[in-house]
Amino acid sequence: MKPDVAVVPCPDYTEASGQQALSQVLAPFGGLAWVEPGMRIVIKANLVSAMRPERSATTHPVLLCALVRMLVRRGAQAIVGDSPGGLYHPRYVERVYSAAGMAAVEEAGGVLNRDFSEADARNPQARVCRNFRYTAYLDRADAIINFCKLKTHGMMAMSCGAKNMFGAIPGTTKPEYHFRYPDPRDFARMIVDLDEYFAPRLTIVDAVDCMEGNGPTSGTPRHMGALVAGESPHKVDLFCAGLIGLKREEVPTLEAALERDLIPASAEELTVLGDPRQFAIPDFQRIATGNSHLFKGDGRSLAKRIRGEVLQRLLTQRPALKASKCVGCGLCGKICPAKAIEMRGKRPQIDRGKCIRCFCCQEFCPHGAMYVHRTALVRLLDP
Ligand code: SF4
Ligand code: SF4
Repeated sequence: MKPDVAVVPCPDYTEASGQQALSQVLAPFGGLAWVEPGMRIVIKANLVSAMRPERSATTHPVLLCALVRMLVRRGAQAIVGDSPGGLYHPRYVERVYSAAGMAAVEEAGGVLNRDFSEADARNPQARVCRNFRYTAYLDRADAIINFCKLKTHGMMAMSCGAKNMFGAIPGTTKPEYHFRYPDPRDFARMIVDLDEYFAPRLTIVDAVDCMEGNGPTSGTPRHMGALVAGESPHKVDLFCAGLIGLKREEVPTLEAALERDLIPASAEELTVLGDPRQFAIPDFQRIATGNSHLFKGDGRSLAKRIRGEVLQRLLTQRPALKASKCVGCGLCGKICPAKAIEMRGKRPQIDRGKCIRCFCCQEFCPHGAMYVHRTALVRLLDP
């Protein structure tokens, strides 16, 4: 019987380690026996930004190449793609490919996606996101393999299997979704809608070097030495959350998956091949996102509303500027979906009243100058 999740050691990013670990982690799911000659398989990587592989923000090219070679050996066409944050056009995406070491994918026999067209979808089965615009190259896939990276995330606590499929939304359109779904619970439901719609055949996690701290782009690499795989991105995420010390309740996409019975209530109920204790990092530096929405009150009683407002103010994390790192480029102001950032001189000023705490500014500041500020009370409760 297939397990829910498999985890194997992958000590480093050498070609030999990557190839061996990938074969091992896919074996419990029948390897790639389902891939037939002529199939077009899209590998949805995490190529969030123009960052070198050593930064641990993007899926490592050695692992992508290993998968490409396995697919090509089966006679399939392997297309690697993603829509990074920012513009979804050739010049920008080529810059991301170049920084992330994607030239190696072509040398390995794969194809980098260069179809930058977009399409509109209707998904009547969705819980919250029934109409959306997506990157049309995914239509050319006979199957999608979701190859993500394990990282912290300002809004969703963790970026892994489920969150990676948000990359199906064109970069320029992503801020709109933050504005449409400002409550993290709804944003997570939207992501689960996308996962259900695109239904990746496999989810593989590059957890060789993860990202801790100020993720998903400005954090610090942390070695775990693992490759994780499974057929359900949500079960994979439930397992990976445990590896980095996150509880299910702290990860909105896991809560959204639980609402739909896509995962069991705890990681202990998963069938796992491999020993998680070998890879768990209890002191992994997480981002405390804070479930401030739980304190908003029911909107009917004035006392409850006031109490909710106060608790929200005391507990809600917010974006904050590390002035010494800011170069005043103004990018955060341009991408802020709530128009909450105004440049005054060379310094971004955040209007707290307008801020919807999507943490796009923190995610996409190219200099790591924005971070998730934890309030004093949160630091006291969760040192
Ligand atoms: S994107 Fe970063 S570096 Fe640029 S202005 Fe904003 S905080 Fe400063
Ligand atoms: S200031 Fe930052 S966190 Fe607040 S809405 Fe704008 S991008 Fe999102």
